[in-house]
Amino acid sequence: MSNIKMKLCVLRGDMSSDKTSEQYPEEPVCTNCIAAEQAKREDSLIVSVGVSVTDETATCTFCDCGFKD
Ligand SMILES: [Zn+2]
Repeated sequence: MSNIKMKLCVLRGDMSSDKTSEQYPEEPVCTNCIAAEQAKREDSLIVSVGVSVTDETATCTFCDCGFKD
């Protein structure tokens, strides 16, 4: 068992893309990385934090940590 918690976050993605799913991709991010990104304020890549991720195969898009680490 690990204590990692992840949330599905909307990120600032590829703004040159014309697809919303690429401009604002939704990715799992662990709470450690959410806290680190939010500390950057305007420079944060996280647009919004959504629901908890329950998929055990998910890995954090920033630090690559997973539930099984
Ligand atoms: Zn992380």
